[in-house]
Amino acid sequence: MQKCGVGGCSRLAVAYIPYSGRNMCRRHFMDFFERRVFRTIRKFRLFRPHARVAVALSGGKDSSVALIMVKKLASEKKFPLEIVAISVDEGVGEYRRSLLKNARSLCEKLGVEHVVVSFKEELGIAIEDIAGISREKRESTCTYCGVFRRYLLNKTAREMGCECIVLGHNLDDLAQTFIMNMLRNEPDRLVRLGPKAGVVSHKKFVTRVKPLIETPEKEVAVYAILSGIPLKFMPCPYAHEAYRSEVRNFLNMLEENQPGTKYRLLNSFMVVKEALSHSEGNPNECIRCGELTNAEVCKTCELLCKLGVRR
Ligand code: SF4
Repeated sequence: MQKCGVGGCSRLAVAYIPYSGRNMCRRHFMDFFERRVFRTIRKFRLFRPHARVAVALSGGKDSSVALIMVKKLASEKKFPLEIVAISVDEGVGEYRRSLLKNARSLCEKLGVEHVVVSFKEELGIAIEDIAGISREKRESTCTYCGVFRRYLLNKTAREMGCECIVLGHNLDDLAQTFIMNMLRNEPDRLVRLGPKAGVVSHKKFVTRVKPLIETPEKEVAVYAILSGIPLKFMPCPYAHEAYRSEVRNFLNMLEENQPGTKYRLLNSFMVVKEALSHSEGNPNECIRCGELTNAEVCKTCELLCKLGVRR
């Protein structure tokens, strides 16, 4: 077993940090991890003191760690925040049931108000029905699910008086999405990425913030295990992740051979985003439901029409 390599510490290491070449014990790793997240929050000014913030809590490792960090910031770092958690129930059977159970018990443990909104109740259609129709249309269920989830999170957070939504996106998510957008020739989508995503000024838009954006996924997983968060390996049965998996494997291989690759991608992304941010226009209100859109009708209404739920 390796020993911790921080300042003469002789405890057993629980993590190896390849881009700095150091082993770390539990205490030093957790301290290193928390400091970096708090630095990200300060550097990108993710929160205003006393803000009411909503954590988008799926119950998986990333959003659970994001909630723990925001709660720690509010309690230990003397940065007052009012925190609520919102989970979206798409209706994905046992997969979602077990994640919601994790989400509920974490909120109880941390004393955080927890709200669950469901596709079925809010939109009139659950994921099984969406999957059936999208299969017939030879489309990915995730395309519908992602649009509906963002719609419900924005609407619920706004109705609960929250000024931002905390997402658990980590460094790997950012690096993968950046590369995928470039490979698909969708550079305009890049403005929605980054530590403060989709910053448009409209009273109906709730800014999305990402405190884990500078933290590699493996380190989030280690922190989750050390914090007693159950890691969920059961994938969503509707996942169409073939392309993302290829990009993930490619980036992991590069990171293995060239440690720091994902950080270099993050830095390149920030330069590109800065240049693109000037082209981001303000949204309109959808003529059907009143939520935000860049067109006349929002994507949610358009997709619900396609599914036959709305006319
Ligand atoms: Fe929804 Fe796709 Fe995620 Fe499943 S994998 S929860 S269908 S976005």
